[in-house]
Amino acid sequence: MSVMHKGLAALGLVMLATPALAADDPLTAPVAAKYAGAFGEPAPPRLLYGNTWALGSPTLSVTVVDSGEGLVLIDAGLAQWAPVLEAHLAQIGHSIREVKLIVSTEPHYDHASGIAALARDSGARVVASEAGAQVLRAGHSGRSDPQFTELFAYPPVPVVEVVRDGETLRVGSLELTAHATPGHTPGSMSWSWKSCAHTGGCQAFVATASLSALTDEVYRYSDPANAQALAAFRGSFTRLRALPCERVIASHPQHAQAAGATGAAVEAPCRALADHFEGELAKVLAREAAG
Ligand SMILES: [Zn+2]
Repeated sequence: MSVMHKGLAALGLVMLATPALAADDPLTAPVAAKYAGAFGEPAPPRLLYGNTWALGSPTLSVTVVDSGEGLVLIDAGLAQWAPVLEAHLAQIGHSIREVKLIVSTEPHYDHASGIAALARDSGARVVASEAGAQVLRAGHSGRSDPQFTELFAYPPVPVVEVVRDGETLRVGSLELTAHATPGHTPGSMSWSWKSCAHTGGCQAFVATASLSALTDEVYRYSDPANAQALAAFRGSFTRLRALPCERVIASHPQHAQAAGATGAAVEAPCRALADHFEGELAKVLAREAAG
C-alpha cells in the first residue's frame, strides 16, 4: 500500500466517524432541486418563546422544543438540511443526541425527507399518525395522497411509532399532544404543547400540518370516491378552531402570514389559519365544479 493509499484509508475512518457529514451519506442525499428549490436553506436558530425554537427556513418550518430533559423535533425539513440543523442545534448549546422524539406533521419530502438521517444520528423515537407512519416507512406516498404524482421519494424511516388523535406524548415534563388534521395528506397531524418562560408565563403553541388543498392533475376533492377524505378535511378545520392556541407555527411559515395568524397580537391564530384554508378549499371545490 502506498503512502497515498494509507492517507485515503485514514480519511475513510474519519468519514465513518461523522456519518452526517459524509458526502456520500445516502440519508442526506439532496432532494432534487426542482422539488427543493422553493425551500431555501435553514436560517440560524430563532427563539420563539420559552423553550421553543425555530430552526427552519422562511418557507419551511422545523421546530425544536427543549423539555429540559431532552429535545423534541417537529419535522426535519429536507434530507440535505440534516447536517446544517445539527450544527445549528450545537450553536444553541445542544447535541443531536439530546433529541429524544421526532414527530411528523405530514409525510411529504419537504417536511420528512430529513427524518431518517436525524433519527439515525439522534437515536430518537419517530412518531406519526397511522397513515403518516405508513408513508414514512415506505419513503413515498400512495394514490390516497392528493399530490401523489408530483411527490419526491425519500429515505424511508425504518421504525415509526403510531399516535392517535388526542394522544399525549411525554419527554421529561413536556407534554406534546397529537391532533389529527387530515386533508392535505391523509395522515396530516398537528401538535400542541405549552411553552413557558421564566417571566411572562406560558403560551399555548400549536404546530400545524399544511392545510392547503393542493392536488396533482388527477385528484379531485369533489370526486365521490374522496367524500370521506373531504369530510375529514372539513373536520380538521373544526378541530383546529377548538384548540387552545395562542401561537401557531405553520409548517410553511408563509401560510400563517397569508392567514394573518402570525405575531403575538393575533388573538386566535389557529382560527385564522383554519378560516383562511377552509376558504382556499372552497375555491378549489368551486374550480373543480366549474371544470
Ligand atoms: Zn405537503
